Amino acid sequence: MRNLLFIDGAFVESLRGGFLDVLDPATGESFAQAAAGTGADVDAAVLAARRAFDHGQWPRMAAASRAAILRRVATEIRANLEQLSVLEMRDNGKPLKEARWDIADAAFCFDYYADMAEQVEAEGETAVDVGDERFACRIRKEPLGVVGAITPWNFPLLMAAWKVAPALAAGCCIVLKPSELCPLSCAELARYLHDAGLPPGVFNLVTGLGTEAGAPLSEHPGVDKLAFTGSQATGSRVMQAAARDIRNVSLELGGKSPFIVFADCDLDKAVEWSQFGVFWNQGQICSATSRLLVERPVYEALLLKLKEAAERIVIGPGDQEGVQMGPLVSELQCCRVLEGIASGIASGARLVTGGGRPSHLRQGYFVEPTIFADVATDSWIWREEVFGPVLCLHPFDTEEEAIALANDSRFGLAGAVMSDDLARCDRVAKALRAGVVWINCSQPTFTQLPWGGYKASGIGRELGRHGYEAFLEVKQITRFDHTQDWNWYQPLVNQI
Ligand code: NAD
Repeated sequence: MRNLLFIDGAFVESLRGGFLDVLDPATGESFAQAAAGTGADVDAAVLAARRAFDHGQWPRMAAASRAAILRRVATEIRANLEQLSVLEMRDNGKPLKEARWDIADAAFCFDYYADMAEQVEAEGETAVDVGDERFACRIRKEPLGVVGAITPWNFPLLMAAWKVAPALAAGCCIVLKPSELCPLSCAELARYLHDAGLPPGVFNLVTGLGTEAGAPLSEHPGVDKLAFTGSQATGSRVMQAAARDIRNVSLELGGKSPFIVFADCDLDKAVEWSQFGVFWNQGQICSATSRLLVERPVYEALLLKLKEAAERIVIGPGDQEGVQMGPLVSELQCCRVLEGIASGIASGARLVTGGGRPSHLRQGYFVEPTIFADVATDSWIWREEVFGPVLCLHPFDTEEEAIALANDSRFGLAGAVMSDDLARCDRVAKALRAGVVWINCSQPTFTQLPWGGYKASGIGRELGRHGYEAFLEVKQITRFDHTQDWNWYQPLVNQI
């Protein structure tokens, strides 16, 4: 299977003609190829998007017309749910059941933003009374322009949908650069958008390496907004590129999110949610609640239950019946996670379970679910994102201490708290410096709610209404009633 670029409404080879192999993480073998886009392809894609935005119909058409196309895409994703899920599973390694969740969520995202476009257009412009009847003032919102979207490999189609659906709904035109590790479902998305009747140039796909295709996109002066999801290191580069010409930027970056477990909660439920919080998607979750803070009286009891539960997790290729954890996405990612584990051992943390590759799997990038106890809060493994199935535990004695430990991080994407005392949960939820807080659960994510981080976890919000407004510019229009007098040297009272 050879996937092409999609530029100006046509599927084309990269101008340099190269392709990248796409590997199945369960075997390490190549099963597809994707075009290796470079700066010249990015130029062509941005030019097409620029033309579509500056002169085309898309930003100017009624929201209902844009919404109809987005709904067709949602329908097409649902119609191909099984095929897309299998593709996502082979590309990324995740268990098939989890791939199905992602694909269904991506379809929902297109429907949701189709509705949002119509709703926001129906709300119309907002009149503002400035206290001077000679002036009629209003606020209108307009599509922001050409968007350069750069996405990661952990939820390939879903992370793209979080940007493509609201950007298109808002009337923007877009160039998408998915991760070179998992580009295949985005290539399918290009087909659906094309078949749904999207005008040429409105959506463009440039697959390829970060340095070859991502960097030129982030540096391109024809892009009005960069919407990036990925690591902090790359996010910083993207932001620097945006800073050069003062372009809009949103960043969805990593985290090291805390999960505070109080002694009064049901320990079995705490086990279930903390497992899901860090082992789902092989732990390759930006919002993974990978720092487990446990109230001292239940620390050892919870640890034992967590160990038993982790050792019951079935690891294997994502298409095998009953598999709960697949391989990590790549050999490099596998090595990084194993290095992180080695640093945990070197720091003196107690390795409770896991710590290596499962012995029964001879090929593929599998890593055992790993739990460390008594992790020093100044160690690398406690402070940095592992992006793999590694859970770190640390005890606490008081609510204040738990909050202080939870907030002692340069990240602030998410946090979770578990207790039967809901008043306490609310206090903790308010005190956590994070963009997402879960009470008595970890990870449930809804398209209707804003998503994004405090501190080094990012800038801006995706999803919900916030994720739509992120693709709009705000304009004030102020009209003077020219039948009235105006003495230019007499300043307006409220401006003195
Ligand atoms: P990454 O930063 O390596 O890559 C992300 C994207 O950037 C890829 O498409 C890559 O090709 C591209 N890229 C690489 N170098 C580039 C450059 N110099 N200029 C422009 N683009 C470049 O991240 P990853 O390994 O794909 O994803 C994992 C990271 O993403 C983790 O840190 C994770 O926490 C984060 N993430 C965050 C969220 C969120 O919503 N906050 C969601 C998913 C993943």
